Amino acid sequence: MKIICIGRNYTEHIEELANEKPEEPVVFIKPDSAILPKEQDFYIPDFSKDVHYEVEVLVKIKKVGKHISEKFAHNYYDEIGLGIDFTARDLQSKLKEKGLPWEKAKGFDGAAVIGEWLPKTDFKDLNNINFSLLKNEREVQKGNTGLMLWKIDELVSYVSQFFMLKKGDVIFTGTPAGVGRIEANDYLSGVLEGRELFHLKVK
Ligand code: ZN
Repeated sequence: MKIICIGRNYTEHIEELANEKPEEPVVFIKPDSAILPKEQDFYIPDFSKDVHYEVEVLVKIKKVGKHISEKFAHNYYDEIGLGIDFTARDLQSKLKEKGLPWEKAKGFDGAAVIGEWLPKTDFKDLNNINFSLLKNEREVQKGNTGLMLWKIDELVSYVSQFFMLKKGDVIFTGTPAGVGRIEANDYLSGVLEGRELFHLKVK
């Protein structure tokens, strides 16, 4: 399986990193080795002094598809989740400055947290899902899928123009404002519409 991530999908997050607003979705891939095994602690890698959390709504692809039109995109997923796109911000900034790919800053071991999945039928409107990240029991990020520049069906359609989607692939739909640094002993938990879908400890 592959992990397809969307960058710069919330206006306020674009502003906090002083990035340019994209004309098309920003897309990158994390390898499957980036998935943090369930119930495992997250270890801050030696190569970074500034690892950031980015809480994101996730979509799990349920069948093969390419060149999917937006109208039919909903047929390609049944489950919605929540996760963290861990980012070595210092390394990413260096790579961005040089115009180099971000992979090392985003695709390292453990950099993809994938929480529990919920059936999409649990939600009345996929474009109105509230989610948040708590650090040490305090809310640090809060978002709603209604604030996405590109909504879930648009993203499924868009990425399928470039990458064939396969059963089990996961799309990270981008992070809202409020990203920040983690430190050893932090405790993170992610909540989607009042339900905790993951929690982990930072080492
Ligand atoms: Zn992200």
